Amino acid sequence: MSGSNVFTIDPWGLAEQGLDLPGLARAESVFALSNGHIGLRANLDEGEPHGLPGTYLNGVFELRPLPYAEGGYGFPESGQSVINVTNGKIIRLLVDDEPFDLRYGELRSHRRMLDFREGVLRRDAEWTSPAGRTVKVKSCRLVSLTQRAIAAIDYRVTAVDGPVRIVLQSELVANEQLPDGSGDPRAAAVLEAPLVGEAAHASGMKAVLVHRTRFSGLRVAAGMDHLVEGPEHFDATAECTEDQGRFSVTTVLKPGEQLRLVKLISYGWSATRSLPAVRDQVEAALTAARFTGWEGLYAEQQQFLKKFWDTSDVQLDGDLELQQAVRFALFHVLQAGARSEERAIPAKGLTGPGYDGHTFWDTETFVLPVLTYAMPSAVKQVLTWRHGTLPMARDRAAQLGLAGALFPWRTIRGEECSGYWPAGTAAFHIGADIAVAVARYCRATGDVDFERTLGLELLVETARMWRSLGHHDSDGRFRIEGVTGPDEYSAVSDNNVFTNLMAQTNLRVAAETVTRYMHQASGLGVDTEEAAAWRDAAAAMYIPYDERIGIHPQADNFTDHQFWDFENTPPEKYPLLLHYPYFDLYRKQVVKQADLVLAMQVRGDAFTPEQKARNFAYYERLTVRDSSLSACTQAVIAAEVGQLDLAYDYTAEAALMDLHDLGGNTKDGLHMASLAGACIALVAGFGGLRDHDEQLSFRPRLPAGLGRLSFAMVVRDQLLHVEITHQRTVYTLRRGTVMTLLHEGEQLKLEQGRPVGRPTATPAGQPERCVQPPGREPARRQAQAGLPIGVVEHLPAE
Ligand code: BGC
Repeated sequence: MSGSNVFTIDPWGLAEQGLDLPGLARAESVFALSNGHIGLRANLDEGEPHGLPGTYLNGVFELRPLPYAEGGYGFPESGQSVINVTNGKIIRLLVDDEPFDLRYGELRSHRRMLDFREGVLRRDAEWTSPAGRTVKVKSCRLVSLTQRAIAAIDYRVTAVDGPVRIVLQSELVANEQLPDGSGDPRAAAVLEAPLVGEAAHASGMKAVLVHRTRFSGLRVAAGMDHLVEGPEHFDATAECTEDQGRFSVTTVLKPGEQLRLVKLISYGWSATRSLPAVRDQVEAALTAARFTGWEGLYAEQQQFLKKFWDTSDVQLDGDLELQQAVRFALFHVLQAGARSEERAIPAKGLTGPGYDGHTFWDTETFVLPVLTYAMPSAVKQVLTWRHGTLPMARDRAAQLGLAGALFPWRTIRGEECSGYWPAGTAAFHIGADIAVAVARYCRATGDVDFERTLGLELLVETARMWRSLGHHDSDGRFRIEGVTGPDEYSAVSDNNVFTNLMAQTNLRVAAETVTRYMHQASGLGVDTEEAAAWRDAAAAMYIPYDERIGIHPQADNFTDHQFWDFENTPPEKYPLLLHYPYFDLYRKQVVKQADLVLAMQVRGDAFTPEQKARNFAYYERLTVRDSSLSACTQAVIAAEVGQLDLAYDYTAEAALMDLHDLGGNTKDGLHMASLAGACIALVAGFGGLRDHDEQLSFRPRLPAGLGRLSFAMVVRDQLLHVEITHQRTVYTLRRGTVMTLLHEGEQLKLEQGRPVGRPTATPAGQPERCVQPPGREPARRQAQAGLPIGVVEHLPAE
């Protein structure tokens, strides 16, 4: 199934007809529900068959040793892995004593549908048991965006013939058996039985289980409560053991009769609170959810999403599949961030255990730029989490002989969890990624309270780190040596352009912010000398440039390296990291993911238009896109340099990464950065949005495949709407009083309800299409107005 679409195309939902058993794990990821606090993979209600059972709580992990064949000073000693917590999704059905198991009997119909407006996963099935009894099952599941501890399932079984004896067993299962790990370093370490039972209680229609993780010492409680509707006569009992809670209900259904079970599930966890406190928290959440009821939870969900789509929808004409994909992307980005509340957003959200549930720079560089204008409160939460990890980041900096704070490359709680330092600790740019996200959030919201407190401290501590990591050379240039930039096929190089430019922004913004909040800054020990040293370093930042060929090397000497032998690299050897040693990749010109090209997006002011075009063409020949974090950036710069069709192809690749399973690993969880990247490709690529300065600036241009692109953005509590056609771009302030922005460099003043239109630039033609490494070209997206467009070929990527 890898590299193909099995879902039907609908602009507001994702549906699957029939059941693809080998593709179960992939469907479990794409249909996953989450609110950023709880994550439920779309395992079937009855628990089996499954691809990979998964229930996650943001921040709940287990510690595991990181063994090294040869250790070294400063190597992290302990890793963190997300764990599959108590599964509350299971509702087993027995039909005249036969388990409803889709592998047996006859599955007459099966349909699942993820509804982006309602925020629910619906399932409809009709099944005939091996003994010949037919039932219809309808379920609807949600993870509440309004009550963050709550998930709920409305489960209905109807007898088609009969009378038929029905038993429903609604369960809580801890320490579920998981399939063995795949050996792929990008998948997760499987931890067996990570939960130690502490308490189990069942009464009435309720059960609660409390466990503790063995080494990380986190207390996790899961509870369930039920409402039953159906024939007058039914019998119900609740019971539990240490690792299992069960509520059973049984009745006899005549043909056409229905048994309905509403299951309310709640979760709570804590590193510090007592057992009674965590148990009571879960019971209280259940009480509140019972009071709201299924209908109430469902209505709240719809209202929440209506508000979200009113302020964040991206609309397209001409490409229905891309329309669906971008809404799918926005929906999952929202799910990942909505209620993460002072926790990280992992690279896979809470949709799967890939990358051990770690958060990376993906969050600040790809996910937060989207949430900043869609749901700024979520951005504040994530940055507040980062701020909360400052003590660990300060310790890490001190351990490595640096000043300020050094944030981890990958983590759950805040400690560095990368055991491979050349692509972990050496990726120092994470500090600037965080600082730039802080600056963007403050500009976009005007949240002065955050800026002068947590924001300021994050900026100060990261600036200190840069000042101590780099040095002025004898010519006065500020150099940053021995770092790894975004491209993980190069490591520990000097003066990576992306890193240096991001550090420059970090140092400058820190110095400016300190000037605005002198009092608070002096509380952090910053004096005028220190801020001046940051300014000097920023002003003297060294950016390498290869005069001979007129190209920016992504780091010192990169353009002197031997070229990778692309001609003799067969398609099955991609992604290269699984087939070639890093030692070989590091000394050649081959690029895993946009690096210098990303620098041109985030610091466009540091390059001339000619340099952008030349650099882009140069790096296109070298970039293999073995990371899903690349296509979106290539789309943005392709659009900027006028390669609109290429930009369109890259946009589609970013958007379809999971729907088409382009990397073949959607089963481990969704690629959150690529999903967010699809929105960035549209808004920053074709919308031409740049948000580095006080005013937003736009340079819109559309590819032939799209007839119209429109999007909305929340900026300082005002709602901006932008509509682009090939002829005209219209800016409307839908909420607010007044806003200024730049269109093609011209300042426009918007007042509420008075749209301002300008012609959309129509390039006379497109420059010659850039060339990619053989076999690594993006699939061409053929435009056929109004019709769904398919993709013809795919690349394996991470
Ligand atoms: C990429 C990193 C990324 C990580 C998690 C890696 O393959 O090279 O840039 O942070 O995946 O998505």
